[in-house]
Amino acid sequence: MDGAASKLDLSAKLPALPGLRLQGISHAFGAKKALDDVSLAVEPGQLVCLLGPSGCGKTTLLRIAAGLEPLQKGSVALDGCAVAEPGYAVPPEQRGVGLVFQDYALFPHLDVAGNVAFGLSKLSASARAARVAETLAQVGMQDYARGWPHELSGGQQQRVALARALAPRPRVVLMDEPFSGLDARLRESIRDDTLHVLKKSGAATLMVTHDPEEAMFMADMIVVMREGRVEQAGPPDAVYAKPASAFVARFFGQVNEVDTVVSGGHAVTPFGRVAAPGRAEGTRVKVLIRPEGLRLDGIPDTAADPACPAKVLASRLLGRSSWVHLCLGQGAEEGHPEHVHFHARVPGRYLPPEGDVLAVDLDPAQAFVFDAHDPI
Ligand code: ATP
Repeated sequence: MDGAASKLDLSAKLPALPGLRLQGISHAFGAKKALDDVSLAVEPGQLVCLLGPSGCGKTTLLRIAAGLEPLQKGSVALDGCAVAEPGYAVPPEQRGVGLVFQDYALFPHLDVAGNVAFGLSKLSASARAARVAETLAQVGMQDYARGWPHELSGGQQQRVALARALAPRPRVVLMDEPFSGLDARLRESIRDDTLHVLKKSGAATLMVTHDPEEAMFMADMIVVMREGRVEQAGPPDAVYAKPASAFVARFFGQVNEVDTVVSGGHAVTPFGRVAAPGRAEGTRVKVLIRPEGLRLDGIPDTAADPACPAKVLASRLLGRSSWVHLCLGQGAEEGHPEHVHFHARVPGRYLPPEGDVLAVDLDPAQAFVFDAHDPI
């Protein structure tokens, strides 16, 4: 296909929308379908996280947006201009996109300033030096301009990689697991800094992560992917508080599962009832209850249903919260259907002794009803 002609065709079809637009992207590696009709938009100044388990297609989508993977079906547009459709592709280096990957990938033969200056060849020497200094200051690395990549810690290298990506003032930043090589403490501080730098830059940012907590921390919008498709997209609080499927609810952390039936418009669990609108009487359902949705004795019982007695099996302080293992059916042996093991998360330090019997009730806002056969 003729590139120039195709570009004209596309600009006629696409409204001149700012930011990054991925439309109807499908992709296969041989017989393996990696992406199936994925569409998403990232507005300028917005940070969107692609979240999902290993192999769900996150990296492939990011690589297609960057131009590192040839597009097979769909289109990619930046600020209203098509940069890829089948048979037509603007090369990665001409897309005005900043890339940050997991392995930092700094050029070992260039010092820190040289790495950051890499994409600034069109600027005069003085403008380039000023921009390098400004960007290094933004990521707190101004004192390392003459250092070498091998002399830097992982966190410092990641800051330089971010500065290098942002120095040419890209309209779009694409990041693939940018913090996964860092230890937990460093990761927290670097992602905090990165969030603020990106927000200040006004770039549209698409970031891949498999860590739901990281997505919640970074994202304005989360796109949960599953087997090459978008399972749910929305602001973090909406995705967390109103999961569209059992898969999404489970992806945000361990949940207690109760198989039950609908009675009087509610799913009935041992801990209380959860509204099940639109489901017929007697329908078999699965209720997923977040550990923080179980309230233990000592927390005022405001629910209409009576609290349920349960025995403490173990309790552990996790730092900011406590994790309590409980069981129902105290007389029943382990393995007996009445013996149900479940978990509650309580803010702060709460360590009831093993063997204590507590009253448990339910926060219905932290419990979700799905079809009994909703696949995992
Ligand atoms: P991870 O979190 O493990 O990086 P991901 O969600 O980013 O996973 P992708 O790397 O996009 O997933 O891979 C999606 C699917 O495509 C997987 O089944 C993967 O094995 C397959 N795949 C990816 N790249 C290739 C390739 N170059 N050749 C063949 N198959 C590939």
